[in-house]
Amino acid sequence: MTMTRTTPPRPVDIAAVFPELAPLARTTTRLHPRPGNPTSWESSVGGPLLWPIDDPWPYCEEPHFHGESLKTLADVRLQRDMLTAAWKRPRQPGVNLLTPEEDAIIKRIQAGHSWTDEPIAMIPVAQLYARDIPDLHPPPGCDLLQVLWCPFGHDDENLPRVKLVWRSSSIVTSLLSNPPQPVAVESEDYVPEPCVVHPEQIIEYPALSDLDEALREQIKAWQEREKPIADVGSFAYSFGLSVAPGWKVGGWTSFSFRDAEPAICSCGTQMQPLLRIDSTEWDGGSGSWIPIEDQALNRNPDTSYTRPWEPVMVTIGRSYTMQIYTCPASVDHPPVAWMQ
Ligand SMILES: [Zn+2]
Ligand SMILES: [Zn+2]
Repeated sequence: MTMTRTTPPRPVDIAAVFPELAPLARTTTRLHPRPGNPTSWESSVGGPLLWPIDDPWPYCEEPHFHGESLKTLADVRLQRDMLTAAWKRPRQPGVNLLTPEEDAIIKRIQAGHSWTDEPIAMIPVAQLYARDIPDLHPPPGCDLLQVLWCPFGHDDENLPRVKLVWRSSSIVTSLLSNPPQPVAVESEDYVPEPCVVHPEQIIEYPALSDLDEALREQIKAWQEREKPIADVGSFAYSFGLSVAPGWKVGGWTSFSFRDAEPAICSCGTQMQPLLRIDSTEWDGGSGSWIPIEDQALNRNPDTSYTRPWEPVMVTIGRSYTMQIYTCPASVDHPPVAWMQ
């Protein structure tokens, strides 16, 4: 198994074409999550947290969706395991993928169950040690960020409610070995697969929406000129030359369906991107960012239930991203999370 992931060089050094971009360069750490068995002592996505036994586990006590299609975590894991195994079996045309017994179990899971009005135990989303993630900048005395969320939609955007915990890993001695599990999750889209990470630091430039208008127009004009001679996807500034896709820490952020605007803390400070949670590690437009080690895999995507560009199996809205921002003025100011 490959232990690193390497972003291919950008097809153009855009800061050489537009020197105004050079001072705007930022580093970001791409996490490159891939399914695995991380431990509490490792950085991970969806893996076990280094959680002190005497520290209360966070619960969400806010109002929750009262539908009848709720699932348990165990249901979500069983469904994924069954479908993964079924896809690995030899298949004959016209024969169902699932055995009748498996089909009955999947139908039961899909039907879900109805509401119980209990608080919802949050679930691990990411655990990031500063030693692994050069773009993680913990507050003094801390070296570890833990991200949890409530696996239900909240507020207008229907996003999971996020909680951030900063810790000093060196003072954690006795671990909570069986953290509480939520009685239900609203959607399997909010259940991350346990993934190991392969952090890689790269350079990003601002999204077009973060540039002043004059430079934005110059870059758009350059793109138009380059289009006939280049693979449009990788040359386009937005897709190939500015902000990387996938899960990442720090760097610049980008917007898809949502109008671009800065996140402003209630103290008046402009918040900065902390962690981006992405529905896909790459898509049709951002293929130039596929790590060198994954390019062969990407050419044979239909041989398994899980797809190489969706290693975490988390989906935000219609395959959007969730950007978590924090306030540089104080770690005590609440983070915000936007679907964008
Ligand atoms: Zn909640
Ligand atoms: Zn603030």
